[in-house]
This record gives sequence, structure tokens and C-alpha cells, in this order.
Amino acid sequence: NAPLAGKRALVTGGSRGIGAAIARRLAADGADVAITYVSSPDKAHAVVDEIVAAGRKAVAIAADSGDVRAVERSVAEAASTLGGLDIIVANAGVAIFAPVDQATIEDYERTFDINVKGVFAAAKGAAAHLPDGGRFIVIGSVNADRMPIVGGSLYGASKAAVQGMVRGLARDFGPRGITANVVQPGPVDTDMNPADGPIAEMLTPFLAIPTYAEGKDIAGLVAWLSGPEARYVTGAALTLDQGFLA
Ligand code: NDP
Repeated sequence: NAPLAGKRALVTGGSRGIGAAIARRLAADGADVAITYVSSPDKAHAVVDEIVAAGRKAVAIAADSGDVRAVERSVAEAASTLGGLDIIVANAGVAIFAPVDQATIEDYERTFDINVKGVFAAAKGAAAHLPDGGRFIVIGSVNADRMPIVGGSLYGASKAAVQGMVRGLARDFGPRGITANVVQPGPVDTDMNPADGPIAEMLTPFLAIPTYAEGKDIAGLVAWLSGPEARYVTGAALTLDQGFLA
């Protein structure tokens, strides 16, 4: 059972956390996979080695999502190494939390460079490389729709921005049958937001199911969006949030 057999995917920020889980899942479903990373070459290569050992092609590419040229280069390199690209998952992101009086303009720029401009650069790569019927998927956040703690203005704004972006991309890509969607996780146990960390104590009371998700939970939805059953799902924000919005 390999619903993505013959497909080729690029996952930005695939060395750890949700992105690594997505890379592993797309490969398990039959896809060849390229991942990008910025600071963890060893972890990126470990993900690649695991996928190759399981019988798929995989490659790790150093590319800072905050650098538009690096993103462009990484999409081109992924396409040439894998022989094309069918799926791009713009997952790389940062979470800088600080109340507005403490957050700096540099925090604003870093957040928007990686979480918004980097996603737009990946979308330009999608326009150039994806065939008809391709998939463009952004990992946003439920914080686009609800921010129940202090310090989240920059993060929430960046994730709301990509929600608007995929609506526009869905229109741009639609005539070619390429879909553009954003997956909006609630809290997921990763280095960014550990289930035993201080933020978890603040967030867990907002969850209807009071448990952190794992990367593989998000990867399951991304795999479905990548597959044939989701061909008419586009311009959508798909929330997987343990009831954070309920
Ligand atoms: P982690 O911090 O655990 O992992 C981040 C990943 O992105 C790493 O692979 C990292 O690479 C990569 N990355 C970070 N910055 C850059 C950059 N500038 N260029 C390229 N790659 C980069 O984060 P998560 O897995 O938790 O988050 C992944 C996505 O999911 C983010 O967009 C985040 O906002 C979103 N999200 C996370 C939630 C959570 O609770 N964890 C909830 C909702 C959304 P490297 O290892 O090389 O540093």
C-alpha cells in the first residue's frame, strides 16, 4: 500500500520535529524525499539515512528558509536530484514569543523572513517546478486563529499571513489542478514546544483532549493532503488541534 509511489517531495525544515515526521511518513507512503535544514546537519542526514535504508531516495540540503535565494536553490536542487517534484511542504518555522514592549524589530524581521517570506519563496518554487496536480502544503498554526497567551503577536501574525497566502495561491494554482493548503496544528511535542516545557503548562488547559500531539499525527494529515483523495481540497486551513479552538 504505497499511495505516494512515484511521487517526489520536498519538506523544508525536515531535520527535526514535525518536518522530520512528515518526511518519514511521505517516504513510508512511497515518495522520494528531499529535506532542508539550517543548523542540524547530523540530524538531517540521520533522517535521510533512515529513509534510504527503507528503500526510498532521499537527500538533505542546507538552506536557510529566511534566505530567498537559498530557498530557490534548494527547490531546484531537490527537483534535479529526485528527477522532479510533485509535493512541496513548507514546514520550516520559528516561534519567537515576547510581549510587544520587549519584542524587537529584529524579532519581527526574523519571524516574517522565515515563516512568511520563506513560504512565499517556496510557493514560487512550486509554481516553477510542480506539475499539474501537484501539492503545496504549509505548516501554519492554530495560533493563526487563537492566541490565548501573552507574547504571541509576531508568531500569530505570521501564521495568519500564510493562511491568507494559501487562499491566494489556491486561485493562482487552481487552473493547473495544483492545490495549496495550510495545516494548522495545536501543540505538538517537539524541541520548539516540548510537552514537559513551561509553555505546555499554559496551553494544555485550553485543549479539549488535554494531551500534546506528536509529529506523526500532523504527518498523517499531510500525507492525506498529498494523496489522490484530496485533489479538490484547496485554499483551506485544516486544523488538527486537540480542540484548542472548540
Ligand atoms: P522545531 O523547532 O522542533 O524544528 C524546526 C525545524 O525547522 C528543524 O528541522 C529546523 O532545522 C528547521 N528550521 C528552523 N529554522 C529554519 C530555517 N531558517 N531554515 C530552514 N530550516 C529551518 O519545530 P516544530 O517541528 O515544532 O515546528 C515545525 C513547524 O510547525 C513550524 O512552522 C511551527 O511553527 C509549526 N507548528 C509547531 C507547533 C508545535 O507545537 N510544535 C504547533 C503549531 C505549528 P535545524 O534542525 O537545521 O535547525
